[in-house]
Amino acid sequence: MSRRIYTDEKHVRKNEYAKAYYRTHREKGLKYAHKYYDENRETILEKQRKAWHDNPEVGRAQGAAWRAKLRQDVLTAYGNACGCCGETHAEFLAMDHVNGNGNRHRKSIKREGGTKFYLWLRQNNYPIGYRILCHNCNVSLGMYGYCPHKQEV
Ligand SMILES: [Zn+2]
Ligand SMILES: [Zn+2]
Repeated sequence: MSRRIYTDEKHVRKNEYAKAYYRTHREKGLKYAHKYYDENRETILEKQRKAWHDNPEVGRAQGAAWRAKLRQDVLTAYGNACGCCGETHAEFLAMDHVNGNGNRHRKSIKREGGTKFYLWLRQNNYPIGYRILCHNCNVSLGMYGYCPHKQEV
């Protein structure tokens, strides 16, 4: 094993080169990855299935972590607090359609609530028309059409 010590200047140049390379090859790389996926779809899926079968806990834990991150991304994008009472405990918070037709909209984009809905929000750059509500405010609005927090004022 040879040990080489780069001077700073060389190191920086190497980095710049890598960045430029990355920029120019990113497109190609993506195309290649898609092509590879298309051509090897079955093999890839089979590998995934096998990995899941051999080690379901790992897959499940990864899935749970991924979903938690997705939910946190969405909540952060929308302010991390209930739009009515200001509740900030993430466990109490959920996304709500501002005009109260969340169900209809979710159907119209052919996605149910939960993960797919959060994913849709993230993929669409967190569109306006949605807000965070805590479960208390959400249920009250759903059942009575108002939230008592707003009536106290
Ligand atoms: Zn609330
Ligand atoms: Zn409220």
